[in-house]
Amino acid sequence: MKRVGFIGWRGMVGSVLMERMKAENDFSQMESYFFSTSQTGEAAPQIINAHDKLLSAMDSKELAKMDILVSCQGGDYTTEMFPLLRKEGWNGIWIDAASTLRMKDDSVIVLDPVNRDFIQESLHKGMKNFVGGNCTVSLLLIALHGLFKENLIEWVSSMTYQAASGAGAKNMIELLDQMKSVGTAFAAQPAAGALELEKQMTTLMNSSEFPTTNFGHPLALNVLPWIDSEMPSGQSKEEWKAQVEANKILQTKSIIPIDGTCVRVGALRCHSQGLTIKLKKSAHLSTVEELIRNANPWVKLVSNNKPETLKELTPGAVSGKMHVPIGRLRQMTLGEEYFNAFTIGDQLLWGAAEPLRCVLKQVLQS
Ligand code: NAP
Repeated sequence: MKRVGFIGWRGMVGSVLMERMKAENDFSQMESYFFSTSQTGEAAPQIINAHDKLLSAMDSKELAKMDILVSCQGGDYTTEMFPLLRKEGWNGIWIDAASTLRMKDDSVIVLDPVNRDFIQESLHKGMKNFVGGNCTVSLLLIALHGLFKENLIEWVSSMTYQAASGAGAKNMIELLDQMKSVGTAFAAQPAAGALELEKQMTTLMNSSEFPTTNFGHPLALNVLPWIDSEMPSGQSKEEWKAQVEANKILQTKSIIPIDGTCVRVGALRCHSQGLTIKLKKSAHLSTVEELIRNANPWVKLVSNNKPETLKELTPGAVSGKMHVPIGRLRQMTLGEEYFNAFTIGDQLLWGAAEPLRCVLKQVLQS
């Protein structure tokens, strides 16, 4: 059995990956070793075929004993440890959730429902680095897979509504702390009118006592229209990733432009996106619906009506679910080639953990 090391298994992505692997009995197919940057020597999770103690994620000699390493620890960790391992001669398979290596020539961005054959081909050619895509990019590609497959898309503009947990465990907990602070202040003012309450809550969220260590700004009662660092183009790095990563995953011959504004909102889990899609030629709504609906087993077309939209097309309805719904699909008044859509997916499942789980299975079977 192959020795597989897991780093970052207790973070948001890592713990969802663990849940999915347990549910699918994946651990029976490997010998597992768990690494930590903060809890070396403590008990490892109780899992079939797993070593019982946590090993140090900073110990390259221990890491190098693995055939496969799966890291959900984050970009700083990858930047520090991955080059060191390769420099010291480790030749195993590296599977990663972080963005650090995605655009490197010797890395494949993995998204099983969309590029499984390319992943298989790359494995046969001896590629060693497999990286999950940006969460909103992966979810967009699963939702619009049918239109990309038919080469119908001229460009897409995506306006995102990204959940707090997309920024990691500490950030998600900070959103809850902010909400607790609001709830406590509200409970102390049972008789206040709406305008008075609005003034008090706005003062509270802009005060130094509001917990903002991780986000740097209030997210509860607010939206934050910037995610990740600044790029010279004026885009945020999250916005920049959409086009470069999607085209790399799709292996396009000429670039399909994808751009928009990425916004953090106070949802706990699941990223939503409002889409404007420009097709290369006019198409009937029914054709577009049919192509989207039948593209892969995970996309789910939601009829464009109020009751089904509000029941099925919200973060609350999609959280923890494997399917990727897309709805609000209609031709726009902008012209016959323009379509509007809204899609949501669990950014911790198909947006992060599931592509890693699928490529790990493919590697173990290769
Ligand atoms: P995360 O939740 O912040 O976890 C990363 C590490 O932080 C954990 O492995 C853990 O390491 C440590 N940690 C510190 N305090 C923690 C706490 N209270 N609970 C859990 N872990 C804690 O990061 P993540 O969101 O999973 O992201 C991991 C990588 O995946 C990043 O590169 C990210 O960009 C990428 N990604 C994230 C998402 C998403 O939706 N979150 C989606 C796609 C890709 P130790 O056990 O070693 O201390």
